[in-house]
Formats: sequence, C-alpha cells, structure tokens
Amino acid sequence: MVSFKKEETEKFRLAQPANTDCAWGIMQLKIAVLPGDYIGPEVMAASLPILEAVLKRSGHTLEHSTHPVGGAGIDASGKALPDSTLSACQQADAILFGSVGGPKWEKLPPAEQPERASLLPLRKHFKLFANVRPGFLPKTLMDASPIRPERIPNGIDMVCIRELTGGLYFGQPKRTTTLPDGDIEGVDTMVYRKSEIIRITDVAIATARARGKKLLSVDKANVLECSVLWRKVVSEHVAATAPDLTLSHMYVDNAAMQLVLNPAKFDVLLTENMFGDILSDEMAVICGSLGMLSSASLGDVKNRHDLPFGLYEPAGGSAPDIAGQNKANPCAQVLSAALMLRHSFGLNAEADAIENAVKKTIADNIRTGDIAFGGASVGTKEMGEAILKRL
Ligand code: NAD
Repeated sequence: MVSFKKEETEKFRLAQPANTDCAWGIMQLKIAVLPGDYIGPEVMAASLPILEAVLKRSGHTLEHSTHPVGGAGIDASGKALPDSTLSACQQADAILFGSVGGPKWEKLPPAEQPERASLLPLRKHFKLFANVRPGFLPKTLMDASPIRPERIPNGIDMVCIRELTGGLYFGQPKRTTTLPDGDIEGVDTMVYRKSEIIRITDVAIATARARGKKLLSVDKANVLECSVLWRKVVSEHVAATAPDLTLSHMYVDNAAMQLVLNPAKFDVLLTENMFGDILSDEMAVICGSLGMLSSASLGDVKNRHDLPFGLYEPAGGSAPDIAGQNKANPCAQVLSAALMLRHSFGLNAEADAIENAVKKTIADNIRTGDIAFGGASVGTKEMGEAILKRL
C-alpha cells in the first residue's frame, strides 16, 4: 500500500483516476441511499451488492440506510425532500442518489416538482458547488458513440468540472415583469465572484494534476463581463498555484464544436454553471449512452473522515420509458458509487476495482440494450451480477 500523509491525500481528493490507496486503515462508511423514482430503485438495487462486495473484501464496514426522495418523497410525506431524508443525509458521510421525477408528478407546480424540490435544496444545503462528470468511452464501446471511430482511435477519457451554484441560474434579479407599455420582460442575471472562481479552479487543478496536467478553461470572454473576470482569475490562480499545469482557454461556442470534431484532445475541462450544463450533456452524448455516465457533486463540507461530503448520481434521469422492465443500464449508478469511494472516502484502489470490473464486463460484450445496438443484451439485474462477478 502506498502511504500518503493526510495533506497529500487531500490533493488527491478530486483526482481521477488515481493510483494511491487509502492511507488510514479500516474505515466505517456511512452513506444515505436515495434511490428516487422509476429506474432509480432498479439501478440502485443492482449497484449496492457491488459496493458491499468491494468493501467487504478490503475489510471496511458499510452502513447504509435507504430514504425516499423526489416523487417517492412526495408520495411518502408530501415533500420531495422529506425532513427525515435530509436528516439522514446530514448524518451520513456521502449520499448515493438514483434519479428523480417523471410523469406521475408532472402536473405539480414547478417549484414542487421532484427534481427542483429535492436536488436543488440538497445542493444548496450541502454547498455542493463543484460538479465533476467523467466522460469516458472505452475503445470496446466505440460503436456507442455518434463520433466516427477514426476521430477517437483510443476512445474518450475526459472530465468536465462545472461550477454548480453560481452564474446565470442563481444570480439576482431573476424575474418576469409586465412593463408599462404592456410588453413582458424576463430577466436572469449572470454573476460570479472571484472567490467562487478560485474555489472551482482549485477543484480543476487537483483533477488535472492527477491526470494529464492539462487544463482547459471555457468561457465567453469576448462578450461577457463574468467571463472576462473568469479568464483573468483562472489565469492568475493557475500561474500562482499550479505552474506545473498547462492552461489553455477556449470560447464556449468553439468548445461545443471541438468536442465533436476532436473529442480525444480534451482532458480536464473547467467551466461555469450554464456552459457546463450544456457541454457536459454534449460530452455525455459523444460518450455513448447516458446509462454509462456518473457524476459527483462536491463542496467545502467535510465528512467524518475529513474528506469532501458529496452527492453521487448517474448523469441521466429516471427514464420512465424503460422503468420496471429490467432494461436500464446500471453502469452509471455503479460508477457513481466508485466516484464516491474515491472522493468521499479516499478508497482509490476500491474505486479502481469497480471501474475495471465495469470495463471488463463491457469488453466481454455483456451489455444492456442501450449499448447493445441490436446485438444480444442482458437486463439491469444480470448486468449488475456480471460486474459483481468480474470484481
Ligand atoms: P432521461 O435521462 O431520464 O432519459 C433520456 C433517455 O435516456 C431515455 O430514452 C432513457 O430511456 C435513456 N436512459 C437514461 N438513463 C438510462 C439508463 N440508465 N439506461 C438506459 N437508458 C437510459 O431524461 P428524460 O426522459 O428527459 O427525463 C425523465 C425524468 O427524469 C424527468 O422527470 C426529468 O425531470 C428527470 N430527470 C432527473 C434527473 C435527476 O434525477 N438528476 C436528471 C435528468 C432528468
């Protein structure tokens, strides 16, 4: 086992992939499991045995409790984020989240909809300002990407770091007003502070250091004041604290094009909230199925192990169209559990083991329908069992 001092391990907290091992012995992991709606409980049920097995093998103890959230929360107690669920999250080291929402609750007022009324309050409560989304397409899954294979001879392996709590989605004023002349005006405000830019840049720096040491910051500095500040702060902060990294900048419109033209050139992409929302979904598409992509939302709050408290969830939604049919791909949920082990517990070897088991399963041509392209496919449960077998 490679041993790191805790400060050094801290540097790896956002690293991936990392090649270190947990430095401080046997751990007790306490996680709040929030499966949510439609395919959420199905993919969660396929993932938990994998998490349990990898921890049991290395002697760590896992304490997990399951709580309703989203539509299930509304059905259980009238609230998408029931008080008992929030309280369980507060007592946990990390949250493993499924996905929420769907037609059953679509007629509720927007502010009470499952996603808006559960995920946003959780992000706000735990100050989860950084969204880390790996975009990974193994060579064996090339046929899942809409990109021509000759453009991605080695697949895709990148990470998008999106600022999650600032910018246009949260800036004030935000309103719709009827003007004196009878016209109607909608207003959103894009606002960023230097301190917000620095803290998300630190996340990107830690991630880039653990990978290819290349960092690309995406903005719209030719038009937006916020982006001019963003570019200046990122440049100065990286020059001052991470001269070992190669930093480049790109306008967001060009980044959207380059992701399709040259996806293999991307490594760590840092960007603000709205640009990250759009670019990370584009990244998801070029990496094949939504069912393969995990994500971590992290902040300054530390857990009992003095590591970042985080919320870990698949990039996709609750997929009502395939729910209850044993069709959903559980890989995104399984890989989210691996991200959790890496970031909130420093268990890099265990995270690697899960990720390798997923890769091996796909390489062995065991696939759910979304990545089978008319070939033989297995169900959610069987895919989970196949990953478990290869662990
Ligand atoms: P979706 O991501 O649920 O589904 C889009 C498409 O991807 C569907 O065809 C679906 O079958 C497929 N898909 C998604 N995950 C898959 C998986 N694991 N395996 C195989 N195929 C998969 O998006 P949507 O249909 O626009 O939204 C459905 C509901 O999910 C909505 O209520 C929406 O608000 C909610 N949603 C929730 C979250 C979240 O919980 N974080 C995120 C996005 C959407």
